[in-house]
Amino acid sequence: SHTVPTTPPQPTLPFPAAPRSTTEASTATAATATATPPSILGLDALFNNPVFAGGIGLAGLGAAAAFGRRALISGAALLRRQLLVNIEISKRDPSYNWVLAWLAQPRDNRGFIAQRLTRLRNLSITTSTRSLNPRGGGGEDGAGKIHADFRVQPGFGRHIVRHAPGVYIAVNREKAGTATTATGEPHETLTLTLLWMHRHVLAEVFTQAHALAQSFQQGKTVVYTARKMEWAVLGKPRLKRPLGSVILDKGVKEKLVEDVKEFLKAQQWYTDRGVPYRRGYLLYGPPGTGKTSFIQALAGELDYSVAMINLSEIGMTDDLLAQLLTQLPEKSILLLEDVDAALVNRRQRDPDGYSGRTVTASGLLNALDGLAAGEDRITFLTTNHIDRLDPALIRPGRVDMMVRIGEATRYQAAEIWDRYYGDIDEDHSGRERFLKRLDELGLFGNDNQDPSVPKRHTSTAAIQGLFQFNKGDMEGAIRMAEGLIPRTFEA
Ligand code: ADP
Repeated sequence: SHTVPTTPPQPTLPFPAAPRSTTEASTATAATATATPPSILGLDALFNNPVFAGGIGLAGLGAAAAFGRRALISGAALLRRQLLVNIEISKRDPSYNWVLAWLAQPRDNRGFIAQRLTRLRNLSITTSTRSLNPRGGGGEDGAGKIHADFRVQPGFGRHIVRHAPGVYIAVNREKAGTATTATGEPHETLTLTLLWMHRHVLAEVFTQAHALAQSFQQGKTVVYTARKMEWAVLGKPRLKRPLGSVILDKGVKEKLVEDVKEFLKAQQWYTDRGVPYRRGYLLYGPPGTGKTSFIQALAGELDYSVAMINLSEIGMTDDLLAQLLTQLPEKSILLLEDVDAALVNRRQRDPDGYSGRTVTASGLLNALDGLAAGEDRITFLTTNHIDRLDPALIRPGRVDMMVRIGEATRYQAAEIWDRYYGDIDEDHSGRERFLKRLDELGLFGNDNQDPSVPKRHTSTAAIQGLFQFNKGDMEGAIRMAEGLIPRTFEA
């Protein structure tokens, strides 16, 4: 069999390794059978037998040996089937990664026999880094230290893990032939083999693996994104972004959060009335105003993950969108970004026969409330161009609430100031000077009515950037406030 060279030398295992397929099982047992010393067949007696000398015995012996060998093979296979439990986990199954992580758990030396059984190259390593800076939000703090965790995972091949005294689990991680997942990666399976009498341990393994996966995600928000035909986790789960770190205009955040929470409590109401349990929100406004940040923080607050699709992405089609929505990850907020892309493309297509592979307006509507739309869902749509949207989109069941997230207001500027300088600006005099400066610059839509100053606005992202640059230095922030004037307005 082609697999033989990669198999580690067979140690004295509590039970034979799992047969990969029936062919391999037979080959393996065949090898054992041929090695059986012939003396057990009573050869001495046969040699003394005159009939044997006539040659007939030889044939008979061959037949008997063949028969015995076959009996041995099927006997061993039967024994394996009877005594061992195999459980195969496909890479497609969420438990695949949990179990891998569980296997990577530090065990005492005797626990992870794999290290002794397999060559080192059969272990693979996963590195996860996390920032040691506890301050959530506010983007990446350059000063944050990075802590790296290295975990050894069982690589491809066979491993034996000692789960408890006397309880061993054989692990076989392999690439499943040439099959690939929808993302083009080779398909993998993980097979756990246990003695039948230890089968109860499996439930334990899965419970522990699940709990472990949860503990990794505690305080984190998982973001899924579409990768070809499937959802894939985007990067490492991120630290939950506190809602308090997203500063929207007065009352806006509270209104949205309250609405979502009401919706989550109202499932029965929807069921009783036969209304699909769905709610849609449309956040619109210029870029850099906190739309995405808010949705991420909201997901953290609800302990949900975010499943994100960018409709302007190349290769996103109606069919693909519909397919992705049928397999939305559990407990996740669906985030459709740049929903205006669907309509722009339609316009492009109609006049000059453009037929690029993109999402159409009707594809989007179908995804939101057509047959493909699942029950049970919270959807957030975002766009920078509300004027480009199809009015049909804004209808209860598709979009139940529309909120403009706009340029920075005086209220937001003050709140962000307090987050950065609250502790050093005790009498708020710095804040007042900063706000006055922004007013003079006309950055609150020229509230000060000075005819020599144009009406203009700045974004919350820009204000954050300014404060981040002048961390701990409020005078610096005030001095550089002029930099908040959007350059495009000046032409
Ligand atoms: P949008 O989705 O509206 O384009 P993002 O949420 O991606 O904006 O914001 C871009 C960056 O600016 C993020 O790093 C975010 O931290 C910061 N930011 C923008 N607006 C806000 C806000 N209102 N409150 C807190 N941070 C904000």
